[in-house]
Amino acid sequence: MRQYTVALLVLGVLILQGFSLEPSEPRIAIIGGGIGGASASHFLTELLSGALDVDLYEARTIGGRLATVEIDGDEVEAGGTIIHPKNMYMQKFVELLGLEKKPPSKEKMGIWNGDEFVFIESDWSVISLWKLFYRYGYQPYTLQRHINSMIEDFTKIYDLQDAGQSFANVEALLSAMNKDFPKLLHTSTKEYFLQMDYSEKLIDELVESATVVNYGQDVTDIQSFVGSISLAASGDLWSVKGGNKKVPEQLIHRNEKVKVIPSRVTKIRNLLNHDDSHRYEVTYVNTDNAIMTSTYDIVIIATPLTRDQEFQIEFVDLPDLVFPGKYQTTYATFVKGDLALKYFDLQEAVDSILCCNPNKTKISSIGKVDSVDGSIKKNSSVWKIFSRTPVETRLLDVMFSDVIENTQIGWKAYPHYSTNMKLGNFKLHDALYHVNAIEWAASAMEMSAIAGRNVAILANKDFLQKSSSKMSNEEVLKSSPKKRTAGEL
Ligand SMILES: Cc1cc2nc3c(=O)[nH]c(=O)nc-3n(C[C@H](O)[C@H](O)[C@H](O)COP(=O)(O)OP(=O)(O)OC[C@H]3O[C@@H](n4cnc5c(N)ncnc54)[C@H](O)[C@@H]3O)c2cc1C
Repeated sequence: MRQYTVALLVLGVLILQGFSLEPSEPRIAIIGGGIGGASASHFLTELLSGALDVDLYEARTIGGRLATVEIDGDEVEAGGTIIHPKNMYMQKFVELLGLEKKPPSKEKMGIWNGDEFVFIESDWSVISLWKLFYRYGYQPYTLQRHINSMIEDFTKIYDLQDAGQSFANVEALLSAMNKDFPKLLHTSTKEYFLQMDYSEKLIDELVESATVVNYGQDVTDIQSFVGSISLAASGDLWSVKGGNKKVPEQLIHRNEKVKVIPSRVTKIRNLLNHDDSHRYEVTYVNTDNAIMTSTYDIVIIATPLTRDQEFQIEFVDLPDLVFPGKYQTTYATFVKGDLALKYFDLQEAVDSILCCNPNKTKISSIGKVDSVDGSIKKNSSVWKIFSRTPVETRLLDVMFSDVIENTQIGWKAYPHYSTNMKLGNFKLHDALYHVNAIEWAASAMEMSAIAGRNVAILANKDFLQKSSSKMSNEEVLKSSPKKRTAGEL
């Protein structure tokens, strides 16, 4: 008797579930725990008012390209470092998480072509301005105005996203900021600024040093949208006290709806349901090397999909979603020691050197770095060198004296840009989305945060639409037996 009661109860629950008019909570997989995956998880939780269930897969360390490195007891930024004052999401996350901003220390910068310094800042800003004017005329000023107006257009995305707008592909997202932005992706940075009548000298020195330090690439190759973004890296720049990685770490770990699965995803299989809706089976290898699978309503890929990435994902019963192109390798070398002024033929010390002829200089930049807590503890300084190839010890030995320690990290840092790249889609399939499509317009923390919100809005809209059409089908099913009875009568 008791068995029948339990069976009836279970049946009752099943019937109730089957005919419920409430959309069920989606099961969501997010692949990648960098700032892009963290942003997607945060905004989806907000949009679905917590009625969701997220498994976030991370093959290495939460934070991804936001990471720190320890050098002689000092913890310094190893990947993404500077944040622009107009980067609203990074700012919003820092406030939400109760973190603090850290301004960069005041720097004296020089631009080096391997033979000489073509420009060196002075300790006095008015003298620096005069030196800029002397070498390039008024053009740095008009260039800055142009970049500021681009930034104004760029920030339109925040209002659009607040109003719930989403974009299926990168081109549509850029067009919504400014209809001419997509055109910039098909013109090289050099060509773009030449067309605007900037002098070759300014482009080959000032603009080149910006694209080289930020993206390791030359003005002749790199498309002009990302080339212009490189020039925006000035003003009241900041980073997060304690390390930028704290943002993804805390966004993910404090979200009760997100379960972190420390595993590498190897396969995504499209499962077609009897009602033509799709679910996805995710195969992953966990920390014990066991192969596991789980099934989801929504999958968000928050990592690059080019063939040169360390962790490749196979797509089954889906179109081939591997993205063409490759990522630029940037070596970040950290040296605790003193800069050898003699090697650079410098009369006085500088805090950062930007290179405008990286083939000759072998390095892209050298800059003094502060520890993430804002204080370098010991006497000598920590320097970060960016280069396209590993920096040989021989070179370090002449560039620095009294080296205490050095460490090198090779990053697949950002896309290798050109002017004939394919612009990708955020929506790859029915309920399969890709955050990092945005990087082909420009790679930066804020770009991944924006793309994370874009896929969250897209996924939420698609899910609600599917749920409502499913519910109206159920309504029809519920009412149809009555109609038949009436017809029979
Ligand atoms: C040296 C360097 C300097 C930079 N400087 C700046 C800067 O100053 N300012 C700025 O704004 N940006 C900067 N950037 C760019 C910025 O760091 C990146 O654009 C941003 O961090 C990308 O975040 P993401 O979440 O999209 O990707 P990622 O941070 O790469 O996250 C992807 C994550 O997915 C994981 N993953 C990959 N495949 C799988 C798989 N199959 N299964 C499970 N997990 C997987 C990875 O381990 C990784 O943690 C810099 C980048 C580098 C490397």
